Amino acid sequence: MDVIHLLPDSVANQIAAGEVIQRPASCLKELVENSLDAGAKRVQVIVRDAGRTLLQVIDDGCGMSEMDARLAFERHATSKIREAQDLFSLRTMGFRGEALASICAVAQVEMTTRRAQDETGTLIEIHGSDVVRQEVCSCPVGTNIKVSNLFFNVPVRRKFLKTDQTELRNLLTEFYHIVLVYPKISFTFVHNDEILLELPAGTEKQRIEAVFGNPKKNSYTSAFVEVHTETEMVGIRGFVIKPENATRKSEQYFFVNGRYMRHPYFQKAVLTAYSGMLPNDYQPSFFIYFDIDPEAIDVNIHPTKTEIKFADEQTIFQILMAAVRESLGKFTLSPTIDFDTTNSIDIPVLHDQPVMKPDIQIDPTYNPFHKRGVVYPDKAPKGWESLYEGAGIQKTDRFPDRVQTDFVETLPDTESCPMWQYGGRYILMPSEQGLVMINQHRAHVAVLYMQFLEQLAHAQGAMQQLLFPEVLNVTQDELVIVQQLHDDLRAIGFDVEQLSPDSFSIQAVPSQLANQSAIPVLQHILLQVRERGANTQVEWREQIAQTLAESAAIPYGKNLTEAEMRDIATRLFALPQYRRTPDGKIILSVLSDDEISKRF
Ligand code: ADP
Ligand code: MG
Repeated sequence: MDVIHLLPDSVANQIAAGEVIQRPASCLKELVENSLDAGAKRVQVIVRDAGRTLLQVIDDGCGMSEMDARLAFERHATSKIREAQDLFSLRTMGFRGEALASICAVAQVEMTTRRAQDETGTLIEIHGSDVVRQEVCSCPVGTNIKVSNLFFNVPVRRKFLKTDQTELRNLLTEFYHIVLVYPKISFTFVHNDEILLELPAGTEKQRIEAVFGNPKKNSYTSAFVEVHTETEMVGIRGFVIKPENATRKSEQYFFVNGRYMRHPYFQKAVLTAYSGMLPNDYQPSFFIYFDIDPEAIDVNIHPTKTEIKFADEQTIFQILMAAVRESLGKFTLSPTIDFDTTNSIDIPVLHDQPVMKPDIQIDPTYNPFHKRGVVYPDKAPKGWESLYEGAGIQKTDRFPDRVQTDFVETLPDTESCPMWQYGGRYILMPSEQGLVMINQHRAHVAVLYMQFLEQLAHAQGAMQQLLFPEVLNVTQDELVIVQQLHDDLRAIGFDVEQLSPDSFSIQAVPSQLANQSAIPVLQHILLQVRERGANTQVEWREQIAQTLAESAAIPYGKNLTEAEMRDIATRLFALPQYRRTPDGKIILSVLSDDEISKRF
């Protein structure tokens, strides 16, 4: 007898719903994004019991025809793309045609909708994917969608929801991410009959004020300075907090082309711009908006993912850092200093804090068509590089004659050029631009990081069996993380088995860890995953790769043979990002011939 059969749509939708709709907040996000995609000018959100019993979104957008109202709830029904190619020039927030199908699979949905050209609207009611009612109705232009009793038929999901307080916070967080990029749309948010937010249409600054300000206190946004820079590659604008107004608590937001994103690497750029200006445990608040050709960023294929990769993150890192520094500098020094004419390293000091000269470093030879190895090894689709072709990324000549200190125009021939080790820390070699100095540990970290990411993607990490298994004791929440990471840990070479409710035995370790104890490495991975809130596989893989790379990389003080130096340099220069470690540290520096001859 044959045993394979196709799942009924209602079941398939319920399974898919698990991915798209994890909690009320993800449902809200999808609904509000649909309203924005529909061109709404005003969006009202009405919530009961943190979304458990009711999530309603009312918009004045384009509405739907009778036919479309029914089709909208089918899986892969979308008006936003027609073919795969469209994915690469998306301007709408949705495109997968999955949200409504997923939502109606796990809730009771009632929708009324009308287009401006229609006299009557459509009412449709769907319970767990079954259409229970569809009729003509009278309603205003736009769409009014009511999602009741979310997860009524998925008890596990319902149980998984946190307290109302937490779910409401999640709803608001999701809501902030959207309203902060749509200042020209007016929004209201009502929870249990109480108006929590009333946001009139206005500017970005007014929107930030309306969301975070307290009308009884000083203006919130006056604590900020503006950031603005325009290059051919990217436009960056927004607000960063004046150092003296920073506290331990911060609001940190990046947006790209109207979409919220998390970007730890760019966050690092902002933090670097503040370095020396804030007490240790203080965090700067910022709202930074990037404008970039959509073809120069990696399309966000996963609906719940907030990470976005850029074509040249290192250059944008520099541009961002310089822009923020410049704003802080402008603000800290009065009158303003003309950065382009001061060349001295004697930086004026005010508020006892050094103000750093912006050091934008632009690749004068940046070539978007040049293909340099794998960039996103964990998920690079075939022919990925072609996405950037014609993207119009060009070098900018805003700072044409800035000294390049971490850029090697013509990479030295690592097979044959002379190489020396210096101080047990650096590998030195000549190049056409001058003397290249490579930090041996960081170079190796960068090399291993990419290698580990690749091994994770292909589950091909080499294992080394331990003669004497080690025991890792864990707390309750670490236990959950280890279980979550189990497959990835295995992919990279850790053989970890649960021994008891609070311990694991480690039978094998990645061969690169050689003679080190695996315990601190695993503990560090757990800590990172928990603290950095890494909650997607991509994020935790990055954490695993980073921790392992740092543990396995050759340490400072280790004497290297010539063959080892050549090997590291060759592999370093084969990386897409050979100038910075994954967490943004400088790997190499060039002492130019000029600088050298000046000394004599
Ligand atoms: P997607 O947004 O990915 O296309 P959805 O399942 O969220 O998929 O929505 C399916 C389709 O239903 C959309 O493409 C759009 O045509 C229509 N739709 C959904 N919500 C609205 C709305 N608020 N106003 C007008 N049309 C909508
Ligand atoms: Mg949608």
